[in-house]
Amino acid sequence: MFGRGSFNQLDAILAEKRSDDGFMLFVLDEAHKGKELEKRLPMRKGDMLLVIRTDYEPKTEYIDQYVDQIKAWSNVLPDGVIGLGGGITMDSAKAISLMLTNPGSSQDYQGWDLINNPAVYHVAVPTLAGTGAEISRTCILTGPEKKLGINSDYTLFDQLVLDPDLLAGVPKEQWFYTGMDCYIHNVESLEGHFINAFSRAYGEKSLELCREVFLGDHPESDEKLMMASYFGGMSIAYSQVGACHALSYGLSFVLGIHHGIGCCIAFNVLDEIYPQGVAEFREMMKKQGIVLPKVVTEDLSEEQMELMITTTLNLAPLWENCLGKDWRQKMPRQRVGELFRKM
Ligand code: NAD
Ligand code: ZN
Repeated sequence: MFGRGSFNQLDAILAEKRSDDGFMLFVLDEAHKGKELEKRLPMRKGDMLLVIRTDYEPKTEYIDQYVDQIKAWSNVLPDGVIGLGGGITMDSAKAISLMLTNPGSSQDYQGWDLINNPAVYHVAVPTLAGTGAEISRTCILTGPEKKLGINSDYTLFDQLVLDPDLLAGVPKEQWFYTGMDCYIHNVESLEGHFINAFSRAYGEKSLELCREVFLGDHPESDEKLMMASYFGGMSIAYSQVGACHALSYGLSFVLGIHHGIGCCIAFNVLDEIYPQGVAEFREMMKKQGIVLPKVVTEDLSEEQMELMITTTLNLAPLWENCLGKDWRQKMPRQRVGELFRKM
């Protein structure tokens, strides 16, 4: 569902799924705690509200705790899980809906197609646009050993409510960093080796919308950014991200740097790989008055740097998409280290 005010249809969407003794689980971004959106939630008697902290990106440990909390709340499964918020909250809602029906810990499922049982019906209501988490078949989790998503067909949301009104109130810098996540998805998808007609069609349109939002002064920029995010997510569904995302995973795993800002910091040193994309990104930063934090890797120990390089180079599909099959020769450890030191 798309359009201003479409959030008002959520109650009717959920009504069809409600059973006599069941309940709905609302997974709400803490940004909305005590605010208008919380008051507008179509909650009925017996429904559960779970507020998601966003100071850290989702860890497998948190997902396991949330699932325990939900199972303690009721001995039946919820009829639906509704994730309302940014990428952290949407990914948490996806992971919860999967882990309610699959045994063990969420860390057992970090990888590709390891999920055996369908998830509980789950709905996304984004309140921040750019990640494409609303449409992707992954939910990115940090586990004790790795940062890797639960990638499966069951991960996909069953329903989306894209209401541009809900983007109101996002702080400017966050709006920019998450929006640039979308821009970078498109550049990495379109310039990658895995590109096909499907990915190109969505990636090109998403890129065009990003340019209108971040370089122009167009009306309906919330609508445009919401569609850019969706199309960017569709584009990488059939291709892959690249060097920037691989580096940002390293930054996140070792330093806890969040996804959007981490992608911006990494992209800014990738002139050699994405010359046009990086030049345009800097133009967007200038137009929007954004200044990136610098030298984030300055205080790292040798061990931390080595771990960051290993984490980054473990993401083989991303590097192969970016540099081709001989990516290992093109991106030795030393070159990754140099890139990190430039940040
Ligand atoms: P986020 O979820 O980290 O949220 C950023 C901040 O904005 C938080 O403090 C949040 O509380 C706040 N916020 C959200 N909506 C708001 C609103 N309407 N008004 C005011 N504040 C609001 O940001 P993000 O960039 O959307 O998501 C990043 C996460 O998404 C990471 O965990 C990343 O790994 C994940 N991700 C997932 C995919 C995927 O395909 N599943 C793709 C990219 C990124
Ligand atoms: Zn991303």
